[in-house]
Amino acid sequence: MSENLNPFTIAQQQLDEATAVLRLNPDMHAFLREPMREFHFSIPVKMDDGHTKTFRGFRVQYNDARGPAKGGIRFHPHETIDTVRALAAWMTWKTAVVNVPLGGGKGGVICNPRDLSPGELERLSRGYMRAIARYVGLTQDVPAPDVNTNPQIMAWMLDEYETITGHREPGVITGKPLELGGSAGRGPATAMGGIFTIREMAKHLGINLQGATCAIQGFGNVGSFATKLATEILGMKVIAVSDEFGGIINQHGLDYQAVSQHLKRTGKVEGTPNTEPLANEDLLTLKVDVLIPAAIENQITASNADKIQTRFIAELANGPTTPAADNILYDRGIPVIPDFLCNAGGVTVSYFEMVQNSYQFYWEENMINERLDALMSKAFHDVIHMAGDKKVDNRVGAYLVAVNRVAEAVRLRGWV
Ligand code: NAD
Repeated sequence: MSENLNPFTIAQQQLDEATAVLRLNPDMHAFLREPMREFHFSIPVKMDDGHTKTFRGFRVQYNDARGPAKGGIRFHPHETIDTVRALAAWMTWKTAVVNVPLGGGKGGVICNPRDLSPGELERLSRGYMRAIARYVGLTQDVPAPDVNTNPQIMAWMLDEYETITGHREPGVITGKPLELGGSAGRGPATAMGGIFTIREMAKHLGINLQGATCAIQGFGNVGSFATKLATEILGMKVIAVSDEFGGIINQHGLDYQAVSQHLKRTGKVEGTPNTEPLANEDLLTLKVDVLIPAAIENQITASNADKIQTRFIAELANGPTTPAADNILYDRGIPVIPDFLCNAGGVTVSYFEMVQNSYQFYWEENMINERLDALMSKAFHDVIHMAGDKKVDNRVGAYLVAVNRVAEAVRLRGWV
């Protein structure tokens, strides 16, 4: 039988497994299995050639028991409501596992930003905010960038929101440019948080990371910073990276600057001087000390999990491993730093951004990184202890920590 790769079905399956271990009250389980609210809307955009194109947009507020919903907005041609639901669920567990006072949400638009002119992209971004403006805010739901959205898009959305409401409220959106109240360290934050968990996992497993090899799938915001920071902070040798067009390898280690410059010039990592081409699927099965999926969902599945040859996996992407693959990896003794723990650095620094916006007082990058390290390291050890205590894999361990916290907030509010 082929695997069900619907991300929301997978998110629900993962929750079901954790709630069985927790022996969670069935009413609570039923409540946590579905989003609390979701918005589906049309965004009409005046295109440069004079016609109006209508895009579909979504915003899901999965759970806000622990604080305002929090989560990014993706612009993607294959966006679906179920992807947004799954990502909103994972945001709920993510904010809980790092114990910041936020809930989980996510948004998306079905579009290919590469087909849009800068003017069309701005009108689409403003249109998205017009559609959700009355449902978001510092105390309700705080969006951020995700796949194919960036600080400029956040700036347009902030401006649209403030134009509608008539007051300045920078904390309504995070991942903003520094000039509009963005936080130092937000760009690399997701990768930086992942680097701290990789360091802790290596200590836990007794692996020396100096010169250890690493392969990274994806060379976007997260994958490119992960390449840089794994080399600069952990002293690792990143031997392979890839993007949607294919991968590259150099057994002696890749030069981050050379790959970035080549990507900037050509739009692809393939062809970077002093590298050999590598198929994307082959990157995942390379013999390396650390494997980092940092691209999209469903990359490690029942069909390749038995071929993975790494000492551990650090999931910087959301949902890169299917439940069937999780079981195979667990049986083979390959530990995973699960996505909503490993990639929680972005939302943690987004939370710092909201705090700084509230006080209008801004911290230096080294203070951001120190605070991020403290929260990520604590979350990592909470998860490892829970997984060890309950004799479950780290993903279930992370669910146990997070679901306990969310369920307790729901119970205290008297909702269930
Ligand atoms: P991005 O759009 O900047 O980069 C995505 C990268 O993946 C690109 O290099 C793209 O070419 C590559 N890619 C796409 N399809 C691929 C395929 N089939 N095979 C190999 N590579 C492919 O996105 P990002 O912000 O770097 O996000 C990457 C992942 O990290 C996503 O799963 C995202 O949800 C997750 N994430 C991002 C953040 C953040 O702060 N940006 C936070 C948490 C989680």
